[in-house]
Amino acid sequence: MIEIDGSAGEGGGQVLRSAVALSMVRGVPIRVRNIRVNRPRPGLRRQHLTAVQAAAAISGGRLDGAALGSTELELEPGPVAGGDYRFAVGTAGSTTLVLQTVLPALLTAPSPSSLVLEGGTHNPMAPPFPFLARTFLPLIERMGPRVTATLERPGFHPAGGGRIRLEIEPCERLRGFELHERGKVRARRVTALLAHLPRHIGERELRLVQKKSGWPSSGFSLEEIDSDGPGNLLTIELESEALTETFTGFGRPRLRAEVVAQRTFQQARRYLKAGVPVGEHLADQLLLPLALAGGGAFTTLPLSRHATTQIDLLGRFLDVPIVVDQVAPPRTVVRIGRHAKSLTSS
Ligand code: ATP
Repeated sequence: MIEIDGSAGEGGGQVLRSAVALSMVRGVPIRVRNIRVNRPRPGLRRQHLTAVQAAAAISGGRLDGAALGSTELELEPGPVAGGDYRFAVGTAGSTTLVLQTVLPALLTAPSPSSLVLEGGTHNPMAPPFPFLARTFLPLIERMGPRVTATLERPGFHPAGGGRIRLEIEPCERLRGFELHERGKVRARRVTALLAHLPRHIGERELRLVQKKSGWPSSGFSLEEIDSDGPGNLLTIELESEALTETFTGFGRPRLRAEVVAQRTFQQARRYLKAGVPVGEHLADQLLLPLALAGGGAFTTLPLSRHATTQIDLLGRFLDVPIVVDQVAPPRTVVRIGRHAKSLTSS
């Protein structure tokens, strides 16, 4: 049994989700204490509860202590089984974070899976659906599995009501990769997504990004969609030779559209200026799959607390060294497994 202190490092839900993901893949029982204890509403929220219940269902495991608000739980996973699964968060809690918990195990499961997840699909502080579909999953596919994501209905905070579907074709072993150069930027797509909100919000967001960036207007679009409640997401997608990175900003009451646009554009500009391929959020999310593959390396921005916490946690489950090197700030190189070993022995 591996004991995890959920309040270590960043101390949020990611510690729990990653511990559960690794427990499923490795088939080792875990006890997680102090789950989100320093958060304003400590313990398991609906999103975390759904994630651990999904993990137990997919691995036919024993789960103790999983209840709303609980700060301690145990999971004893069984063998992971592919199949048809449906999990509903029940609130606007993030479906993509539920996926983050169970996807690693399903990527190398003995059979394919079809997964329907209901709740929020476009949440702040979580991977929004466009990031999942166009940035994260294409890199997972580079590792061997096939994963198709479909947005069946968008769900924004606080109404929720969204639904995504994942078709997962696993592979026997994940293959790592190296990603150090971005190559030329081939396309820049800026999209203002609106559900039940006036068009001028999206128009103002697009206008500001266009003015600041000077990018051709052909890449700018406004999309109006139906959803259970109102929502606004501004997405800047940068398609380079090596990958597509996605930067997002959410509108909310009393936050000016220009501020949403300015903040989103700043993230994209920082990334472009640094000349790295992997952005901040993608970095923390690539660590776990690359460690499971036994090796990989990428160049990114300075690591977030989420990423450093993730590195510490991976060390509790896997004998895979991870070396972080700030070569020429802000360029930061992360080497995992074989790629870290060859560095230390050369
Ligand atoms: P908390 O316990 O702090 O309430 P949580 O369970 O909601 O947290 P975190 O532990 O903060 O979630 O994890 C958030 C995850 O979502 C991280 O993997 C992070 O990289 C990812 N993420 C956050 N914002 C974005 C974004 N804009 N684009 C892509 N991924 C994002």
